[in-house]
Amino acid sequence: MVLSEEKIKSIQKKLEGLSDEAKEKKLQEILSGMTEDEVAEISEGRCPFCLIGSGQTVAHKVFENNDVMAILDINPANNGHVILFPKKHFGVLGQIDDFLIRELFSVANKISIGIFEGLKAEGTNIFVANGKVAGQNAPHFLIHIIPRYSDDKILFQWDPKELEEGDKIARKIIEHLPKEKKEEKLTRKKAEIEDYDDFFPGKA
Ligand SMILES: [Zn+2]
Repeated sequence: MVLSEEKIKSIQKKLEGLSDEAKEKKLQEILSGMTEDEVAEISEGRCPFCLIGSGQTVAHKVFENNDVMAILDINPANNGHVILFPKKHFGVLGQIDDFLIRELFSVANKISIGIFEGLKAEGTNIFVANGKVAGQNAPHFLIHIIPRYSDDKILFQWDPKELEEGDKIARKIIEHLPKEKKEEKLTRKKAEIEDYDDFFPGKA
């Protein structure tokens, strides 16, 4: 619990009696002054996937561990369309810790294998809509795992454009790749040390 009851009450008081439009505006203003953890806590109370993840709403569960949950989509692209998500509230991929991203995609692969074997799928689409313009409709980060069959009439298509200024475009992306996180460096360092010990067995 990051937010005190007092703080929640004071937020509710600030929103009292406002029109929907003014309420939304005021809420945005309050949220912009909060820490990431506080925003996550407020979102959790309203987000359908947080409610499913915490067991407050039932769903057709396919997988669950401490960090992630997978359920059947109730409006599937194909029967057996699975939605996988972190139990903690994250809006988009860029907010999620690397260890959890690894966990999510590792589980996505397991579910995909389950779909191939159990539903006799001929292929799967593993799909993330990252942001509203990319087609993300939920407030919570989701990975879709969709069973595919020949002639299932699902289209993931676009008209290919001509690549322009490839060098410049690649450089722009490279210059903005995030620096690796401290914990990552530490894990790698530890792995290197362990390799070193393997190389010199018996060395203290
Ligand atoms: Zn959520």
